[in-house]
Amino acid sequence: MTRFKIQILFALLFSIVSCHNNKEITYDIVIENARVIDPETETDAFLNVAINNDKIAEISKNKLIGKKVIDGTGKILSPGFIDLHAHGQTNKENEYQAFDGVTTALELEIGVDTLAQFYKARKGNALLNYGASACQLAYRNKTIANSDRVYETIYEELQDSVAEQALPEHQFINLRNRLKEAITHGAIGIGIPVGYLPNASIEEITDVYAYAGEINVPVFSHVREGGAIAFQQAISDAILNNTQLHICHLTSMARKDVDFCLEAIEKAQALGFSITTELYPYTAGNTEIGSAIFNEGWQERLGCTYEDLQWVATNERLTPETFEFYRKQGGSVIVHMMKESWIDKVMASEVSMIASDGGGYSPTGHPRSSGTFCKTIRKYVNEDKLLDINSAIKKMTIMPAGVIESIVPDMKLRARIQKGCYADLLLFDVNEVRDNATYGDGFVKSTGMDYVIINGEILIENGEMQSGVFPGKAIKSAVKL
Ligand SMILES: [Zn+2]
Repeated sequence: MTRFKIQILFALLFSIVSCHNNKEITYDIVIENARVIDPETETDAFLNVAINNDKIAEISKNKLIGKKVIDGTGKILSPGFIDLHAHGQTNKENEYQAFDGVTTALELEIGVDTLAQFYKARKGNALLNYGASACQLAYRNKTIANSDRVYETIYEELQDSVAEQALPEHQFINLRNRLKEAITHGAIGIGIPVGYLPNASIEEITDVYAYAGEINVPVFSHVREGGAIAFQQAISDAILNNTQLHICHLTSMARKDVDFCLEAIEKAQALGFSITTELYPYTAGNTEIGSAIFNEGWQERLGCTYEDLQWVATNERLTPETFEFYRKQGGSVIVHMMKESWIDKVMASEVSMIASDGGGYSPTGHPRSSGTFCKTIRKYVNEDKLLDINSAIKKMTIMPAGVIESIVPDMKLRARIQKGCYADLLLFDVNEVRDNATYGDGFVKSTGMDYVIINGEILIENGEMQSGVFPGKAIKSAVKL
Protein backbone atom coordinates (compact mmCIF):
# COMPACT_ATOMS: atom_id res chain seq x y z
CA MET A 1 0.00 0.00 0.00
CA THR A 2 1.40 3.36 -0.98
CA ARG A 3 1.87 6.14 1.52
CA PHE A 4 -0.85 8.12 -0.31
CA LYS A 5 -3.36 5.27 -0.02
CA ILE A 6 -2.63 4.90 3.68
CA GLN A 7 -3.33 8.61 4.20
CA ILE A 8 -6.67 8.27 2.37
CA LEU A 9 -7.60 5.25 4.46
CA PHE A 10 -6.82 7.10 7.72
CA ALA A 11 -8.80 10.12 6.58
CA LEU A 12 -11.75 7.87 5.74
CA LEU A 13 -11.56 6.05 9.07
CA PHE A 14 -11.31 9.37 10.95
CA SER A 15 -14.39 10.78 9.22
CA ILE A 16 -16.38 7.62 9.98
CA VAL A 17 -15.35 7.77 13.64
CA SER A 18 -16.15 11.51 14.01
CA CYS A 19 -19.47 11.06 12.23
CA HIS A 20 -20.25 8.20 14.55
CA ASN A 21 -19.29 10.41 17.55
CA ASN A 22 -21.61 13.21 16.42
CA LYS A 23 -24.51 10.84 16.40
CA GLU A 24 -23.57 9.63 19.85
CA ILE A 25 -23.47 13.05 21.57
CA THR A 26 -25.73 12.81 24.58
CA TYR A 27 -26.89 16.14 25.95
CA ASP A 28 -28.05 16.84 29.51
CA ILE A 29 -31.56 17.81 28.40
CA VAL A 30 -33.29 17.73 25.02
CA ILE A 31 -36.62 19.42 24.34
CA GLU A 32 -38.23 17.80 21.32
CA ASN A 33 -40.69 19.05 18.72
CA ALA A 34 -41.56 22.36 20.37
CA ARG A 35 -42.50 25.48 18.40
CA VAL A 36 -39.33 27.47 19.08
CA ILE A 37 -39.79 31.24 19.13
CA ASP A 38 -36.59 33.30 19.20
CA PRO A 39 -37.49 36.99 18.89
CA GLU A 40 -34.02 38.24 17.94
CA THR A 41 -33.64 36.02 14.85
CA GLU A 42 -37.43 35.91 14.31
CA THR A 43 -37.20 32.13 14.36
CA ASP A 44 -40.61 30.49 14.66
CA ALA A 45 -40.19 26.82 13.78
CA PHE A 46 -40.54 23.28 15.09
CA LEU A 47 -37.07 22.35 16.35
CA ASN A 48 -35.21 20.21 18.87
CA VAL A 49 -33.17 22.08 21.46
CA ALA A 50 -30.37 20.55 23.53
CA ILE A 51 -28.91 21.85 26.79
CA ASN A 52 -25.52 21.07 28.32
CA ASN A 53 -24.71 22.52 31.73
CA ASP A 54 -26.13 26.08 31.76
CA LYS A 55 -26.15 26.74 28.00
CA ILE A 56 -28.03 25.85 24.84
CA ALA A 57 -25.69 23.35 23.13
CA GLU A 58 -27.54 22.53 19.92
CA ILE A 59 -30.65 23.46 17.95
CA SER A 60 -31.63 21.16 15.12
CA LYS A 61 -34.39 19.73 12.99
CA ASN A 62 -32.66 16.37 13.45
CA LYS A 63 -33.22 14.12 16.42
CA LEU A 64 -30.97 14.91 19.39
CA ILE A 65 -30.13 12.50 22.18
CA GLY A 66 -30.55 13.59 25.79
CA LYS A 67 -30.15 12.01 29.22
CA LYS A 68 -33.49 13.67 29.84
CA VAL A 69 -35.95 14.23 27.00
CA ILE A 70 -38.90 16.59 27.32
CA ASP A 71 -41.73 16.30 24.80
CA GLY A 72 -42.61 19.78 23.51
CA THR A 73 -45.31 18.67 21.07
CA GLY A 74 -48.07 21.26 20.84
CA LYS A 75 -46.13 23.72 23.00
CA ILE A 76 -44.10 26.89 22.60
CA LEU A 77 -40.48 27.04 23.70
CA SER A 78 -39.71 30.68 24.53
CA PRO A 79 -36.82 32.47 26.21
CA GLY A 80 -37.58 33.14 29.89
CA PHE A 81 -39.27 36.44 30.64
CA ILE A 82 -37.17 39.33 31.95
CA ASP A 83 -38.84 41.69 34.41
CA LEU A 84 -36.95 45.00 34.67
CA HIS A 85 -39.25 46.23 37.42
CA ALA A 86 -39.66 43.74 40.25
CA HIS A 87 -39.58 45.17 43.76
CA GLY A 88 -40.14 41.71 45.24
CA GLN A 89 -36.57 40.41 45.53
CA THR A 90 -36.74 37.37 47.80
CA ASN A 91 -37.42 33.71 47.00
CA LYS A 92 -40.94 34.16 48.35
CA GLU A 93 -41.79 36.53 45.48
CA ASN A 94 -39.48 34.67 43.05
CA GLU A 95 -41.68 31.59 43.41
CA TYR A 96 -44.74 33.48 42.15
CA GLN A 97 -42.70 35.21 39.45
CA ALA A 98 -41.41 31.83 38.21
CA PHE A 99 -44.95 30.48 37.76
CA ASP A 100 -45.61 33.66 35.73
CA GLY A 101 -42.72 32.73 33.41
CA VAL A 102 -40.12 35.13 34.80
CA THR A 103 -36.56 33.81 34.84
CA THR A 104 -34.81 37.15 35.56
CA ALA A 105 -36.34 39.62 38.04
CA LEU A 106 -34.57 42.97 38.47
CA GLU A 107 -35.26 45.91 40.80
CA LEU A 108 -34.34 48.85 38.59
CA GLU A 109 -36.96 51.58 39.20
CA ILE A 110 -35.87 52.29 42.76
CA GLY A 111 -32.85 50.07 43.29
CA VAL A 112 -31.36 48.63 46.45
CA ASP A 113 -29.66 50.66 49.17
CA THR A 114 -26.99 48.14 50.20
CA LEU A 115 -26.02 46.66 46.85
CA ALA A 116 -22.97 44.67 47.95
CA GLN A 117 -24.89 42.93 50.75
CA PHE A 118 -27.84 42.30 48.42
CA TYR A 119 -25.70 40.47 45.87
CA LYS A 120 -23.84 38.59 48.61
CA ALA A 121 -27.01 37.47 50.38
CA ARG A 122 -28.66 36.07 47.25
CA LYS A 123 -25.63 34.30 45.81
CA GLY A 124 -26.15 30.56 45.50
CA ASN A 125 -29.66 30.51 46.94
CA ALA A 126 -31.83 32.50 44.51
CA LEU A 127 -34.64 30.89 42.54
CA LEU A 128 -34.38 33.43 39.70
CA ASN A 129 -31.63 35.55 38.18
CA TYR A 130 -31.48 38.74 40.25
CA GLY A 131 -30.05 42.25 40.18
CA ALA A 132 -30.70 45.88 41.07
CA SER A 133 -29.84 49.45 40.22
CA ALA A 134 -28.15 52.11 42.36
CA CYS A 135 -30.73 53.66 44.69
CA GLN A 136 -30.64 57.44 44.15
CA LEU A 137 -33.59 57.77 46.58
CA ALA A 138 -31.78 56.18 49.53
CA TYR A 139 -28.43 57.86 48.80
CA ARG A 140 -29.83 61.38 48.44
CA ASN A 141 -31.92 60.90 51.61
CA LYS A 142 -28.79 59.83 53.50
CA THR A 143 -26.76 62.65 52.01
CA ILE A 144 -29.32 65.28 53.06
CA ALA A 145 -29.71 63.83 56.56
CA ASN A 146 -25.97 63.14 56.88
CA SER A 147 -26.91 59.70 58.21
CA ASP A 148 -25.82 56.12 57.69
CA ARG A 149 -29.33 54.75 57.99
CA VAL A 150 -29.76 51.45 56.17
CA TYR A 151 -33.06 51.11 54.35
CA GLU A 152 -34.32 47.53 54.35
CA THR A 153 -37.36 48.16 52.13
CA ILE A 154 -38.51 50.69 49.58
CA TYR A 155 -41.39 51.57 51.89
CA GLU A 156 -38.87 52.86 54.45
CA GLU A 157 -37.20 54.95 51.74
CA LEU A 158 -40.49 56.38 50.47
CA GLN A 159 -41.89 57.14 53.90
CA ASP A 160 -38.79 58.90 55.21
CA SER A 161 -39.63 62.59 55.63
CA VAL A 162 -36.19 63.48 54.22
CA ALA A 163 -37.63 62.55 50.83
CA GLU A 164 -39.62 65.79 51.04
CA GLN A 165 -36.43 67.89 51.21
CA ALA A 166 -34.19 69.16 48.43
CA LEU A 167 -30.56 68.09 48.07
CA PRO A 168 -28.42 71.25 48.33
CA GLU A 169 -26.13 71.89 45.35
CA HIS A 170 -22.90 71.59 47.33
CA GLN A 171 -23.91 67.99 48.16
CA PHE A 172 -24.40 66.84 44.57
CA ILE A 173 -20.83 65.51 44.58
CA ASN A 174 -21.54 63.38 47.67
CA LEU A 175 -24.51 61.80 45.94
CA ARG A 176 -22.35 61.13 42.87
CA ASN A 177 -19.79 59.37 45.09
CA ARG A 178 -22.44 57.11 46.62
CA LEU A 179 -23.79 56.29 43.14
CA LYS A 180 -20.26 55.53 41.96
CA GLU A 181 -19.72 53.09 44.82
CA ALA A 182 -22.94 51.24 43.98
CA ILE A 183 -22.00 51.00 40.30
CA THR A 184 -18.63 49.51 41.26
CA HIS A 185 -20.56 46.86 43.22
CA GLY A 186 -22.44 45.89 40.06
CA ALA A 187 -25.50 48.18 40.16
CA ILE A 188 -27.37 48.06 36.84
CA GLY A 189 -27.67 51.80 36.17
CA ILE A 190 -29.43 54.29 38.42
CA GLY A 191 -33.05 54.31 39.65
CA ILE A 192 -34.49 57.83 39.82
CA PRO A 193 -37.99 57.80 41.33
CA VAL A 194 -38.34 61.58 41.07
CA GLY A 195 -42.13 61.34 41.34
CA TYR A 196 -41.62 60.56 45.03
CA LEU A 197 -39.36 63.60 45.48
CA PRO A 198 -41.66 66.58 44.92
CA ASN A 199 -39.14 69.10 46.25
CA ALA A 200 -36.07 67.80 44.46
CA SER A 201 -34.85 70.66 42.27
CA ILE A 202 -34.48 70.47 38.52
CA GLU A 203 -30.73 70.89 39.08
CA GLU A 204 -30.58 67.95 41.49
CA ILE A 205 -32.27 65.56 39.10
CA THR A 206 -30.44 66.89 36.05
CA ASP A 207 -27.11 66.29 37.80
CA VAL A 208 -27.97 62.60 38.25
CA TYR A 209 -28.81 62.33 34.54
CA ALA A 210 -25.57 64.14 33.74
CA TYR A 211 -23.55 61.74 35.89
CA ALA A 212 -25.27 58.71 34.30
CA GLY A 213 -24.48 60.17 30.87
CA GLU A 214 -20.83 60.71 31.82
CA ILE A 215 -20.35 57.12 32.98
CA ASN A 216 -22.61 55.62 30.28
CA VAL A 217 -25.16 53.85 32.45
CA PRO A 218 -28.94 53.89 31.95
CA VAL A 219 -31.39 55.62 34.29
CA PHE A 220 -34.75 54.12 35.20
CA SER A 221 -37.28 56.71 36.20
CA HIS A 222 -40.65 56.98 37.85
CA VAL A 223 -41.01 60.50 36.46
CA ARG A 224 -42.47 63.52 38.20
CA GLU A 225 -46.20 64.00 38.52
CA GLY A 226 -47.60 65.99 35.62
CA GLY A 227 -48.17 63.63 32.67
CA ALA A 228 -46.98 65.21 29.42
CA ILE A 229 -44.84 67.91 31.08
CA ALA A 230 -43.09 65.32 33.25
CA PHE A 231 -42.30 63.23 30.16
CA GLN A 232 -40.93 66.27 28.36
CA GLN A 233 -38.69 67.03 31.33
CA ALA A 234 -37.35 63.48 31.59
CA ILE A 235 -36.78 63.16 27.84
CA SER A 236 -35.10 66.55 27.73
CA ASP A 237 -32.79 65.57 30.63
CA ALA A 238 -31.88 62.38 28.78
CA ILE A 239 -31.21 63.98 25.40
CA LEU A 240 -29.30 67.00 26.73
CA ASN A 241 -27.06 64.80 28.88
CA ASN A 242 -26.63 61.96 26.37
CA THR A 243 -28.18 59.59 28.90
CA GLN A 244 -30.00 56.33 28.23
CA LEU A 245 -33.48 56.57 29.79
CA HIS A 246 -36.09 53.95 30.62
CA ILE A 247 -39.42 55.44 31.75
CA CYS A 248 -41.24 53.11 34.15
CA HIS A 249 -44.94 52.19 33.84
CA LEU A 250 -45.94 54.66 31.12
CA THR A 251 -49.69 54.20 31.63
CA SER A 252 -49.76 55.11 35.33
CA MET A 253 -47.44 58.10 34.72
CA ALA A 254 -49.08 59.49 31.59
CA ARG A 255 -52.72 58.72 32.44
CA LYS A 256 -54.95 61.10 30.41
CA ASP A 257 -51.88 62.26 28.42
CA VAL A 258 -51.15 58.71 27.28
CA ASP A 259 -51.33 59.51 23.54
CA PHE A 260 -48.89 62.41 23.85
CA CYS A 261 -46.43 60.52 26.07
CA LEU A 262 -46.41 57.38 23.94
CA GLU A 263 -45.87 59.45 20.81
CA ALA A 264 -42.99 61.29 22.50
CA ILE A 265 -41.19 57.99 23.08
CA GLU A 266 -41.94 56.72 19.59
CA LYS A 267 -40.53 59.97 18.13
CA ALA A 268 -37.44 59.85 20.37
CA GLN A 269 -36.71 56.29 19.22
CA ALA A 270 -37.28 57.19 15.59
CA LEU A 271 -34.66 59.94 16.04
CA GLY A 272 -32.23 57.37 17.43
CA PHE A 273 -32.33 58.16 21.15
CA SER A 274 -32.12 55.33 23.68
CA ILE A 275 -35.42 56.07 25.39
CA THR A 276 -37.65 53.13 26.22
CA THR A 277 -40.73 52.35 28.27
CA GLU A 278 -42.83 49.61 29.83
CA LEU A 279 -46.30 48.94 31.20
CA TYR A 280 -48.08 46.51 33.49
CA PRO A 281 -51.41 45.19 32.17
CA TYR A 282 -53.65 46.48 34.96
CA THR A 283 -55.80 49.59 35.48
CA ALA A 284 -54.73 50.10 39.12
CA GLY A 285 -51.39 51.22 40.51
CA ASN A 286 -49.94 50.32 43.90
CA THR A 287 -47.81 52.42 46.21
CA GLU A 288 -47.01 53.55 49.75
CA ILE A 289 -49.78 55.62 51.31
CA GLY A 290 -47.26 57.62 53.35
CA SER A 291 -45.32 58.72 50.25
CA ALA A 292 -45.38 62.15 48.63
CA ILE A 293 -47.71 60.77 45.94
CA PHE A 294 -50.53 61.45 48.42
CA ASN A 295 -49.49 64.97 49.39
CA GLU A 296 -52.27 67.54 49.19
CA GLY A 297 -53.93 67.72 45.78
CA TRP A 298 -53.54 63.98 45.05
CA GLN A 299 -57.16 63.58 43.93
CA GLU A 300 -56.67 66.12 41.17
CA ARG A 301 -53.23 64.84 40.21
CA LEU A 302 -54.22 61.17 40.09
CA GLY A 303 -57.76 61.78 38.83
CA CYS A 304 -59.32 59.60 41.52
CA THR A 305 -60.77 59.82 45.03
CA TYR A 306 -60.90 58.00 48.39
CA GLU A 307 -63.12 55.13 47.24
CA ASP A 308 -60.65 54.38 44.43
CA LEU A 309 -58.05 53.52 47.09
CA GLN A 310 -57.97 49.88 48.21
CA TRP A 311 -56.11 49.29 51.49
CA VAL A 312 -54.01 46.17 50.89
CA ALA A 313 -53.96 44.86 54.49
CA THR A 314 -57.76 44.60 54.76
CA ASN A 315 -59.02 45.05 51.19
CA GLU A 316 -61.30 47.89 52.31
CA ARG A 317 -61.97 50.95 50.13
CA LEU A 318 -60.95 54.13 51.95
CA THR A 319 -62.88 57.13 53.26
CA PRO A 320 -61.47 60.56 54.22
CA GLU A 321 -61.20 59.31 57.84
CA THR A 322 -59.52 55.97 57.15
CA PHE A 323 -57.22 57.64 54.59
CA GLU A 324 -55.90 60.04 57.26
CA PHE A 325 -55.50 57.21 59.78
CA TYR A 326 -53.59 54.89 57.45
CA ARG A 327 -51.45 57.69 56.01
CA LYS A 328 -50.01 58.27 59.49
CA GLN A 329 -49.52 54.54 59.99
CA GLY A 330 -48.04 53.81 56.53
CA GLY A 331 -48.58 50.80 54.27
CA SER A 332 -49.47 49.59 50.82
CA VAL A 333 -52.47 50.89 48.88
CA ILE A 334 -53.90 49.90 45.49
CA VAL A 335 -54.97 52.92 43.42
CA HIS A 336 -57.72 52.40 40.83
CA MET A 337 -56.98 55.27 38.44
CA MET A 338 -56.57 54.11 34.83
CA LYS A 339 -58.76 53.21 31.87
CA GLU A 340 -58.63 49.95 29.87
CA SER A 341 -58.32 52.02 26.68
CA TRP A 342 -55.00 53.49 27.94
CA ILE A 343 -53.60 50.01 28.59
CA ASP A 344 -54.76 48.81 25.15
CA LYS A 345 -53.13 51.77 23.43
CA VAL A 346 -49.72 51.28 25.05
CA MET A 347 -49.87 47.48 24.86
CA ALA A 348 -50.41 47.65 21.09
CA SER A 349 -47.45 50.01 20.54
CA GLU A 350 -44.23 48.52 19.17
CA VAL A 351 -42.15 50.51 21.66
CA SER A 352 -43.69 49.17 24.88
CA MET A 353 -42.33 46.27 26.88
CA ILE A 354 -43.88 44.39 29.80
CA ALA A 355 -42.70 44.88 33.39
CA SER A 356 -44.64 44.01 36.53
CA ASP A 357 -43.78 46.69 39.14
CA GLY A 358 -44.61 43.82 41.51
CA GLY A 359 -44.17 44.29 45.24
CA GLY A 360 -43.37 42.24 48.32
CA TYR A 361 -45.45 39.25 49.32
CA SER A 362 -48.88 40.00 50.81
CA PRO A 363 -51.90 37.74 50.19
CA THR A 364 -53.98 40.77 49.24
CA GLY A 365 -51.20 42.54 47.30
CA HIS A 366 -51.59 43.86 43.77
CA PRO A 367 -52.18 41.01 41.27
CA ARG A 368 -49.44 42.41 39.02
CA SER A 369 -46.83 40.87 41.34
CA SER A 370 -47.76 37.35 40.32
CA GLY A 371 -49.84 37.68 37.15
CA THR A 372 -48.38 40.34 34.82
CA PHE A 373 -46.77 38.12 32.21
CA CYS A 374 -49.40 35.38 32.01
CA LYS A 375 -52.14 38.04 31.93
CA THR A 376 -50.44 39.60 28.91
CA ILE A 377 -50.68 36.25 27.10
CA ARG A 378 -54.11 35.26 28.40
CA LYS A 379 -55.89 38.59 27.82
CA TYR A 380 -53.97 40.50 25.13
CA VAL A 381 -52.88 37.53 22.96
CA ASN A 382 -55.57 34.86 23.45
CA GLU A 383 -58.73 36.82 24.23
CA ASP A 384 -58.44 40.36 22.85
CA LYS A 385 -56.04 39.42 20.04
CA LEU A 386 -54.34 42.79 20.41
CA LEU A 387 -50.92 41.13 20.07
CA ASP A 388 -49.68 37.96 18.41
CA ILE A 389 -47.64 35.63 20.62
CA ASN A 390 -44.38 36.55 18.85
CA SER A 391 -44.86 40.26 19.66
CA ALA A 392 -45.79 39.46 23.25
CA ILE A 393 -42.67 37.31 23.72
CA LYS A 394 -40.54 40.10 22.21
CA LYS A 395 -41.94 42.59 24.75
CA MET A 396 -41.08 40.20 27.59
CA THR A 397 -37.62 39.00 26.51
CA ILE A 398 -35.34 40.61 23.92
CA MET A 399 -36.68 44.15 24.45
CA PRO A 400 -36.04 44.32 28.22
CA ALA A 401 -32.69 42.53 27.74
CA GLY A 402 -31.77 45.22 25.22
CA VAL A 403 -32.26 47.98 27.79
CA ILE A 404 -29.35 46.75 29.92
CA GLU A 405 -27.15 44.93 27.40
CA SER A 406 -24.81 47.89 27.01
CA ILE A 407 -23.58 47.52 30.60
CA VAL A 408 -24.41 43.87 31.36
CA PRO A 409 -22.53 41.68 28.83
CA ASP A 410 -24.24 38.61 30.34
CA MET A 411 -27.55 39.88 28.96
CA LYS A 412 -26.35 39.41 25.37
CA LEU A 413 -26.50 35.67 26.09
CA ARG A 414 -30.00 35.70 27.59
CA ALA A 415 -33.49 36.29 26.14
CA ARG A 416 -32.48 34.18 23.14
CA ILE A 417 -32.86 30.60 21.95
CA GLN A 418 -29.53 30.40 20.16
CA LYS A 419 -26.57 28.05 20.43
CA GLY A 420 -24.19 29.19 23.18
CA CYS A 421 -26.79 31.27 25.03
CA TYR A 422 -27.89 30.59 28.60
CA ALA A 423 -30.69 28.05 28.86
CA ASP A 424 -33.34 30.29 30.44
CA LEU A 425 -36.38 28.69 28.82
CA LEU A 426 -40.15 28.31 29.14
CA LEU A 427 -42.27 25.52 27.68
CA PHE A 428 -46.01 26.18 27.60
CA ASP A 429 -49.25 25.57 25.74
CA VAL A 430 -50.28 29.11 24.80
CA ASN A 431 -53.99 28.27 25.19
CA GLU A 432 -53.49 27.02 28.74
CA VAL A 433 -51.70 30.09 30.14
CA ARG A 434 -53.71 31.79 32.90
CA ASP A 435 -53.13 34.54 35.42
CA ASN A 436 -55.14 33.67 38.52
CA ALA A 437 -54.41 36.66 40.79
CA THR A 438 -57.12 39.27 41.35
CA TYR A 439 -57.54 42.46 43.35
CA GLY A 440 -58.06 41.21 46.89
CA ASP A 441 -56.49 37.83 46.16
CA GLY A 442 -53.27 39.06 44.64
CA PHE A 443 -50.66 36.42 45.34
CA VAL A 444 -52.12 33.46 43.47
CA LYS A 445 -49.81 31.63 41.12
CA SER A 446 -50.29 31.78 37.38
CA THR A 447 -50.75 28.42 35.64
CA GLY A 448 -49.72 27.03 32.29
CA MET A 449 -45.92 27.18 32.49
CA ASP A 450 -45.17 23.45 32.12
CA TYR A 451 -41.42 23.91 32.30
CA VAL A 452 -39.31 26.78 33.59
CA ILE A 453 -35.60 26.20 33.06
CA ILE A 454 -33.03 28.65 34.42
CA ASN A 455 -29.31 28.41 33.64
CA GLY A 456 -29.97 24.85 32.42
CA GLU A 457 -31.64 23.73 35.65
CA ILE A 458 -35.29 22.73 35.76
CA LEU A 459 -37.09 24.89 38.33
CA ILE A 460 -40.66 24.02 37.31
CA GLU A 461 -41.43 20.60 35.83
CA ASN A 462 -44.91 19.59 34.63
CA GLY A 463 -46.21 22.71 36.36
CA GLU A 464 -44.66 21.77 39.73
CA MET A 465 -41.93 23.73 41.53
CA GLN A 466 -38.90 21.50 42.21
CA SER A 467 -37.50 21.64 45.73
CA GLY A 468 -33.86 22.27 46.56
CA VAL A 469 -33.12 23.91 43.19
CA PHE A 470 -31.62 27.41 43.24
CA PRO A 471 -30.53 28.19 39.70
CA GLY A 472 -30.59 32.02 39.90
CA LYS A 473 -27.40 33.94 39.06
CA ALA A 474 -26.41 37.55 39.71
CA ILE A 475 -27.03 39.99 36.89
CA LYS A 476 -24.45 42.76 37.30
CA SER A 477 -23.08 45.73 35.47
CA ALA A 478 -19.54 45.34 34.14
CA VAL A 479 -18.87 49.10 34.22
CA LYS A 480 -15.47 49.92 35.64
CA LEU A 481 -15.05 53.37 37.21
ZN1 LIG B 1 -43.17 53.58 40.13
